[in-house]
Amino acid sequence: MINIVKGFKDILPKEAAIRGDILLKAKRIFESNGFNEIILPILEKTELFTRSIGEATDIVQKEMYTFTDKNGDSLSLRPEGTASVVRAFVENNLFNKSTPHKYYYSGPMFRRERPQKGRLRQFYQLGLEFFGEDSPLADAHIIYILHKFLSEINLQNVVIEINSVGCEFCRPKYEEELTKYYTKNIDNLCEDCSSRLSKNPLRLLDCKNETCSQLKTDAPVIVEYLCSECLEHHNRLKDFLKIFNVNFRENKFMVRGLDYYTKTVFEAVSSDGLGSQNAVGAGGRYNNLVEQITGKKFHGIGFALGVERLVLLLNQDESEIAPDFFIVTLGESSLNIGIKIYLELTQKGFRGEFDYQLKGFKHQLKKADKYKSKFCIIIGENEVKSNKVIVKNMLTGVQQEIAAENIEGVLNEPYKL
Ligand SMILES: [Zn+2]
Ligand SMILES: [Zn+2]
Repeated sequence: MINIVKGFKDILPKEAAIRGDILLKAKRIFESNGFNEIILPILEKTELFTRSIGEATDIVQKEMYTFTDKNGDSLSLRPEGTASVVRAFVENNLFNKSTPHKYYYSGPMFRRERPQKGRLRQFYQLGLEFFGEDSPLADAHIIYILHKFLSEINLQNVVIEINSVGCEFCRPKYEEELTKYYTKNIDNLCEDCSSRLSKNPLRLLDCKNETCSQLKTDAPVIVEYLCSECLEHHNRLKDFLKIFNVNFRENKFMVRGLDYYTKTVFEAVSSDGLGSQNAVGAGGRYNNLVEQITGKKFHGIGFALGVERLVLLLNQDESEIAPDFFIVTLGESSLNIGIKIYLELTQKGFRGEFDYQLKGFKHQLKKADKYKSKFCIIIGENEVKSNKVIVKNMLTGVQQEIAAENIEGVLNEPYKL
């Protein structure tokens, strides 16, 4: 027996079905809001990620699957989607097209995280990117799409948290104040934070350590340091979000793990009603990233969702996928009719099963029961002559003789039988 690689996971049919449903709904909502799919390779030149995510980050330093190809190139499995979309946008001259520059993607990402954290090393993300607009209306639209999608897949109590992380002109002043504040309290910082303080003081706001998060309460807040352009952008975004009817709140200490964000950052948080909260998706504006990677100046904004997290929150039901109907036949001529009925119903989208072993009536019924089929469609000699079938509701045990053309109606309204 050869087992799966550590940190990787098989996606079995039930979970695959939930994912399929999530992707289908995403496709519908993203496309109706003007976003088109872009499918990108999972392998890129390592430099793409060192330039976009940053050489000094944990992702690039410790977590990427990087190897040297036979010709000496350094290649990496993508740890996230945005950098590849940016590369493709410029490399394929998509910016010359007259259509809006709105794209979405989905697929596996790879990070060699420590397995004890329970994180997968291959995980799936779903994301969208919008290039070329700096208006807060674009931010509001993107956030609306995220919110709308999460409510469409029936995720409970979704709130969007927003903040601004400023721009290259106003953020340094804030970082300076933050560094001053934390330096005063350096004795109370955890080991990680005291070493991060000089490199990236914003990351201290993310620390989960108890004393660090207590310190945060009195830390300076960035909105008070925004330049007039960033502040105006932030305020207009809030006005637009109200018009878009998005349930949002401000989180003055929210920063994102990656350095490339400017102005708007946001997270979608879902609470399960029992008090626990989960961040299910996040994103932000990145007005300098495209230039950083490609040398071309384009504004950008986008978000990404972790598909595993969504599946976990939606997959509360223990049952397996069950067929809608099971064909039960008595004799050769009824089998022929059974096959015809099977084909008609499956073409209409119902999920059906047979007894492939062609055994007797009792055996077929037993199998239908084992598969937890919702209905049995029973076709006997009499039924063949009269063009009628017996439909049995396997949950209630109630059965009824009906004309073959009416089966669909019964399957659609199972509570009536
Ligand atoms: Zn600014
Ligand atoms: Zn800390």
